[in-house]
Amino acid sequence: MSGFWCEAALIEADGGDVAGSGGARRPEIAAGVRLEVHEGRISGIATGVRPEAGDQILNGVVFPAAANAHSHAFHRILRGRTHDGRGDFWVWREQMYRSAAELTPEKYEKLATAVFTEMVVSGFSSVAEFHYVHHQPGGIPYAEPHAMELALARAAVASGIRLTLLDTLYLAGGIGTPLSPEQARFGDADADAWLDRLGSLRAGVARSFPPELVGVGAALHSVRGVPEEALKTVAAKLPADIPLHIHLSEQPAENQACIEAYGVTPAGLLARHGLLSRRLSAVHATHLTPEDIRLLGDAGATVVMCPTTEADLADGIGPARALSDAGSTIALGTDQHAVIDPWVEMRTLEHGERLASGQRGRFSPQELFHAATIGATASMATPIASALEVGAVCDLMAVAPDSVRTAGSIPRQFAFSATASDVTDVVIAAELVASNGAHVRLGTPGSLLAEALKEFS
Ligand SMILES: [Zn+2]
Repeated sequence: MSGFWCEAALIEADGGDVAGSGGARRPEIAAGVRLEVHEGRISGIATGVRPEAGDQILNGVVFPAAANAHSHAFHRILRGRTHDGRGDFWVWREQMYRSAAELTPEKYEKLATAVFTEMVVSGFSSVAEFHYVHHQPGGIPYAEPHAMELALARAAVASGIRLTLLDTLYLAGGIGTPLSPEQARFGDADADAWLDRLGSLRAGVARSFPPELVGVGAALHSVRGVPEEALKTVAAKLPADIPLHIHLSEQPAENQACIEAYGVTPAGLLARHGLLSRRLSAVHATHLTPEDIRLLGDAGATVVMCPTTEADLADGIGPARALSDAGSTIALGTDQHAVIDPWVEMRTLEHGERLASGQRGRFSPQELFHAATIGATASMATPIASALEVGAVCDLMAVAPDSVRTAGSIPRQFAFSATASDVTDVVIAAELVASNGAHVRLGTPGSLLAEALKEFS
């Protein structure tokens, strides 16, 4: 039987005599861990053992790989180019639209391959791509109506990352405002036309890609981008078995416009139409009322926090602790990709909590790691790394415990010291895909990115 031998690994152990654990299991770092694998999944675990002949050796401390629950791959174009001067989210959005206008299926496949490769070498084994650049500029469909979507799926397969392709409904430029010319390529005629296109995309993806690697989900751009009539249609007709994402209350202006038009907050509007549920991933959820927090928590919705993006865009600090206490599951995303690093995202979440509350330890390192991994389960249409346990997909990231950043750290506290630069090996579906910052098939993401970005102004 083939397998991986890990110098050390975070495995699920019995709770034993841990007070209040109720016998629940909790992760522990164990030495000499052998993972037996079968068809991409972990089929056996032994600790305190030596490697067997033929085992692949993973040095350092091995963790489940991370899940990136919110991505717009093309926003990577803007890294290091939009951070000077003043302005706010809305000014940044104009710059982002100029990049969107330059995308073609060919250029996007090359760029997304590079971005997904950066994610893989950084420790992510899955991504939820919130995709809305569907058509040609002006809104004319491509001859192959799913050209952009299939380009993203091929990019994911090339990089080895598991992709949840979130096909996004985007009908309005704001509440009561039609799409602007630069938004026209994001749109569909109406919610029914989008549902038809989504159904056709699901069938096409299922025919061409393995379901363990590429799955289709749905997204509503926001209550700014989807009018109430369309929300009703989606609530009535969207198949129940796929994840649904939405940007929610990222900006105070969105809340204000929603209250003026509908008399309720964005979360209240979703609740009105039965769209708050366990299958919903609310992205950002930065500016919420106590009632919004209760609604999301009672529904058991996932909330995807994107802390480095929210900081960069001056969005604000979302009430992650309150949402978690109310019953929501917290997941993490790198969103605009000014940073692609699961470890930095984990600690920025907690740092925001500390800055806003004046208290340390708002989220434990274990809770932060949960947000970066299992927290994204409901957000994804593919299986994701849950824990190093029998039956789980074998998606791993090994972290160096002796780098300039991590030396002396307790591995369970790496969320406060490690970065993506400390990720030495990444395994997806029991295949080694990256080592020491390079992809085993595609080379270094820096070279791929430099080459892909040459094609954009
Ligand atoms: Zn977003």
